[in-house]
Amino acid sequence: MGNDREHRIFNPRMECMSRDERAQLQSERLVQTVRYEYDHVPVYRARMDAKCIRPEDIHGIEDLKYLPFMEKTDLRDQWPFGLLAAPKRDIVRIQGSSGTTGHPIVSGYTRNDVDVWSEMMARTLTAAGCTPDDIVQVAYGFGLFTGGFGAYQGADKIGAMVLPMSSGNTQRQILMMKDLGVTMLCCTPSYAAYLGETVRDMGLDPNVDLKLKAGCFGAEPWTEEMRVHIEELLGIDACDIYGLTEIAGPGVSFACLEKDGMHINEDHVIAEIINPATGEPLPYGESGELVFTTITKTGMPMLRYRTHDICSLNPEPCACGRTTVRMTRITGRTDDMLIIRGVNVFPSQIESVLVGIKGVAPHYMLVVDRVNSSDTMEVQVEMTEEMFSDTISHIEQVRKNITDQIKSVVGIATNVKLVAPKSIPRSEGKAKRVIDHRKL
Ligand code: ADP
Ligand code: ZN
Repeated sequence: MGNDREHRIFNPRMECMSRDERAQLQSERLVQTVRYEYDHVPVYRARMDAKCIRPEDIHGIEDLKYLPFMEKTDLRDQWPFGLLAAPKRDIVRIQGSSGTTGHPIVSGYTRNDVDVWSEMMARTLTAAGCTPDDIVQVAYGFGLFTGGFGAYQGADKIGAMVLPMSSGNTQRQILMMKDLGVTMLCCTPSYAAYLGETVRDMGLDPNVDLKLKAGCFGAEPWTEEMRVHIEELLGIDACDIYGLTEIAGPGVSFACLEKDGMHINEDHVIAEIINPATGEPLPYGESGELVFTTITKTGMPMLRYRTHDICSLNPEPCACGRTTVRMTRITGRTDDMLIIRGVNVFPSQIESVLVGIKGVAPHYMLVVDRVNSSDTMEVQVEMTEEMFSDTISHIEQVRKNITDQIKSVVGIATNVKLVAPKSIPRSEGKAKRVIDHRKL
């Protein structure tokens, strides 16, 4: 892979240092963070004590594996402030998770933490090509959800012109994009696809009527196929961006214009991949659950926080010049994984099939049920306007083709249903892809 675009780097000192130098920096910061957490967060101290581990036993990153994990349930059990390490008067911001998987959680940020997050987002946007000359439209929601503020802070730090639209009101988003000559877009990938389709429905040609050059899209899983689809729809470079409220918000890692994995901001976090069943660390290249340790946060530091997100790590230097480890696209969350008649199925596998098929739009819903003690899965997918007015026999042929391809990719028979264009509800935030009646 590679491309001829110029690679911009916001903080070359931190993003391009040698791996040895970075390991040294991470070790120093880890030792300090462990001591700080032990001294200020009674629940974590108790957990370390229970394992007979003292802060002085942790000498560097090689000792990370001895530390106990933290989990989303800890944040819920300690709701709302039990994991704060800093005094409340030093907390300047509360952000919360969107609650995709149940009870919401909140994280407290000190001034330092907001600055760290802004720095990570400035690096992210710069990697997608952003400079002070750009106009950045932020169509992530502003609120407790970290998307809107994260993108705003990063663009502001770069000195770009920010258009804080928040999510929703698609026609107005496009009007502003066109009239102001917006060059960069930040939103969820599903919303980017929807914006792209609406641009075309409005009779606009993005390559003529818009000045968009790139977008940073994340907050939900999406596939390579979806990336190509969005790039074609909007005539832009689409870069993946990853993050989570507990660790900082978006910007924990980001794709550069090589689009070959996401660079992790390793001077602020340490990433590990573990076997989700046993907790054992896995070597580079192996796929498993991503675990993060923050090493510069002071409000609510997280040690070995289990994200439930699945990916692998690649330590090879990148053609862009950055030396940070890259994580692959997230293939799903362990809690997104559907078990259908004993087979593990991720929505992203279905998406990768659908995006490649002519005549359907990549808007889909998986409806799972249990009938006569056997699991069933219906894949509802929207037809394009053209396909909708095609012959019944052609529609049936496409439906059969999708059924066969899903069978060969995931290994199970599904019931594919082609539905009318624009009939699956659009999300302005994270897309909802699954309705599981077995859990209702
Ligand atoms: P939640 O969705 O758990 O309510 P957050 O808003 O903090 O909380 O979102 C963090 C989660 O969003 C991550 O753990 C991950 O599952 C998902 N996510 C964020 N960015 C991406 C991305 N680029 N690709 C896939 N998943 C992502
Ligand atoms: Zn790179």
